[in-house]
Amino acid sequence: MVTVQTLKREIVEVGRRVYARGYVAANDGNISARLDDRRVVITPTGVSKGFMSEEDMIVVDMDGKVVSGTKKPSSELFMHLNIYKHRADVRSVCHAHPPYATGFAVAGIPLEKCILPEVIIVLGGIPLVEYGTTGTEEFYAGVLRRIATNDAFLLANHGALTVGKDTFNAYYKMETLEHFAHITFVAQTLGQINTLNKEQVQKLTEIRERLGIQTGGECVTCEEEGTCQVPAPAPGPQMPDREALIRDVTKAIMDKLGSPR
Ligand SMILES: [Zn+2]
Repeated sequence: MVTVQTLKREIVEVGRRVYARGYVAANDGNISARLDDRRVVITPTGVSKGFMSEEDMIVVDMDGKVVSGTKKPSSELFMHLNIYKHRADVRSVCHAHPPYATGFAVAGIPLEKCILPEVIIVLGGIPLVEYGTTGTEEFYAGVLRRIATNDAFLLANHGALTVGKDTFNAYYKMETLEHFAHITFVAQTLGQINTLNKEQVQKLTEIRERLGIQTGGECVTCEEEGTCQVPAPAPGPQMPDREALIRDVTKAIMDKLGSPR
């Protein structure tokens, strides 16, 4: 069984990476990990995630009561606890504001197109959930509505959220989400996004099933968005042989001029 000390160490390391990669500014973001059926380790409020120590971590019970730790738990504590209550397989929750993913969340654009194989296998389509005031139930109501089928979310006008089977699994999904948002932004800027078709997506779904990945929202195929590329036209009639053409034209000219005297 994982120890409380291991979880504290992992959360400190994930906090350092989230901050170093610019996924949060100042004291933004929160990370938690489930210790057992009754206890969760969570980051404190008002502390930069890039400079936390294991002593800063707080252990709470499933009702949000502090079991150990001297600091105040994250203001999003109840979002974390409710996600654990809805999904027994989730062992960690990561919330941050990575700029590209958050840009899509602010623009009101979900990342639901079937574009990159890795993303389709690991996350599927990434929905955009409704805006809600931070620190209240409405903030995470949209997440709870879709938590049964999704591991990654864009939070409208706010940021992103991922869940996973352990601390690093949830964090890596945040990396994948932000990388995907960045690539989508670049492709869009270049002027075109080629979405995969149903047959291509089906093959990736089979890989996902073989890997035992249970969740992952449906992504939108090019058939569904009506943007599949038209197949290249069939090759036209063959051009006549070049030498034969020159020979024929020369003969026609010579015939017209008549035989030399
Ligand atoms: Zn936030």
